[in-house]
Amino acid sequence: MLGQMMQMPLTIGSLIDHAARFHSAGQIVSVETMGGVEHSTWGQVGANARRLASALRKLGMEQGARCGTIAWNNRRHLEIYFGVAGGGFVCHTINPRMGPEQMVYVINHAEDQVLFIDQTFVPAAGKLAPALKHCKHIVMMGPRDEAAAEQVPNLMFFDELLETGDASEPWPEFDENSASSLCYTSGTTGDPKGVLYSHRSTVLHTLAGNQPDGLNISATDTVLPVVPMFHVNAWGVPYIAAMSGCKLVLPGPNLDGVSLVNLIDETETTLALGVPTIWMGLLAALEETGSKMPSLTRTVVGGSALPPSMIPKFAAYGVDLVHAWGMTETSPLGSVNQLLQRHMALSAEEQAEIRLGQGRAPYGVDLRILDEAGNVLPHDGEAQGDLQIRGPWIVETYFGKETTALTDDGWFDTGDVATIDGEGFMVIRDRSKDIIKSGGEWISTVTLENIAISHPAIANAAAIAALHTKWDERPVIVAIKSGEVSEEELLAFYKGKVESWQIPDRVIFVDALPIGATGKVQKNLLRDEFGKVLLEA
Ligand code: AMP
Repeated sequence: MLGQMMQMPLTIGSLIDHAARFHSAGQIVSVETMGGVEHSTWGQVGANARRLASALRKLGMEQGARCGTIAWNNRRHLEIYFGVAGGGFVCHTINPRMGPEQMVYVINHAEDQVLFIDQTFVPAAGKLAPALKHCKHIVMMGPRDEAAAEQVPNLMFFDELLETGDASEPWPEFDENSASSLCYTSGTTGDPKGVLYSHRSTVLHTLAGNQPDGLNISATDTVLPVVPMFHVNAWGVPYIAAMSGCKLVLPGPNLDGVSLVNLIDETETTLALGVPTIWMGLLAALEETGSKMPSLTRTVVGGSALPPSMIPKFAAYGVDLVHAWGMTETSPLGSVNQLLQRHMALSAEEQAEIRLGQGRAPYGVDLRILDEAGNVLPHDGEAQGDLQIRGPWIVETYFGKETTALTDDGWFDTGDVATIDGEGFMVIRDRSKDIIKSGGEWISTVTLENIAISHPAIANAAAIAALHTKWDERPVIVAIKSGEVSEEELLAFYKGKVESWQIPDRVIFVDALPIGATGKVQKNLLRDEFGKVLLEA
């Protein structure tokens, strides 16, 4: 017997309709690429999203047509998120930090027919345009700009395009499993791979990701996604913001610490989200500006491991750090670290210890760990293995590929190595590609990095596996100094913090670490450069 309740498809159009109808005066603050700050509302964004969908239809776009974006976090990008997906097209967000070759590859692979670009990217788009095989229209996200028009043949302008659309046209009807957005993995090795999200997966991710033990965003919040809208849908924050009707602050191109502190203070941001490198810059800027960020109550940290030294530093400003884990393939929320009732009785230090892990899976996500032989390992907090995940917002097949991305029994292998304890708290120990195997024993690069970063004279550090004649691999630290410290002193700092055989063999000081397009240290490049230093010794 079937239930007798209404059938309403779970669509992205319904999210922005909700925001526009019930939070129509809710504010959107947007730092513009061309300078200045612009104020808008959910009502206006909703109307512009519908105008855009209507205008794209008039341009001849058919359902499923891919529309690329090369843009920072700003109001027009938000309208594209909702207007493109709501109109039945696919919003393909492109990372502007990709090299030109990779960019051409993903735009052609996605078969983007329209390309929306911020003004900053007009010169780059002019150069790329001849190589783009399917692109019919390049649209600059702004008003008409004659200087830009000279650089790209037939360049269109977003504000003029919107005027051709009709805000009263309803969203088209389609299956909730239709594609809504497309994002390519950073692809440190091989070609980037596309993950094609659906309306249903996105709405489920929005609902599950914003539980009180998830991102916990409410209509009373002012939310600043520093995480870029070109990286895994800004962790789903635009959708969650529309569902909750919170005030949304879009930071534009300037993500340095001082700009962020000023923006947080001016907009009275309560929650900000981003990768650890962003928060390192913010902490330095707080000392510089003297701001105490009185409005900020919490930040969500993910993308790479949260350095332990960061928790007390933020606590001094009254800010809680919520550690979260995920990947492009997982929409991205796979786990969020919110404490249990019994943890409330613990001291701040004991709570901080738990918060360092990547947390628990929300409803909808299932996690397991396996050993090298493929045996499922116990959730005892000790057994360490390959982390696999499944759920309704986890990738099944990469875009354009024939074969499934899953194991025979339907799980996605994350490439991360983790432990999970009896209460479901998961800790990422390493990437399987990064972990150091010394004489058959594993050494976590994350642990070694955290110790280096907690040294007062170290600004940032990466641990890599260097080849070794006797032990196969041994740890080497590549670090940036922020004060006076010698190699011997830093190595001595490890004593008592890890087993003696886990203490790195060498420290190499550098001026900068290679940071990839999504803000992570590119350890493969460091291995290429320093992977043989112990052989040469
Ligand atoms: P991406 O698809 O570019 O978002 O990269 C996903 C990868 O980033 C994951 O597989 C992890 O290796 C890493 N990652 C994401 N969040 C965390 C975290 N909180 N702690 C450690 N690693 C993380």
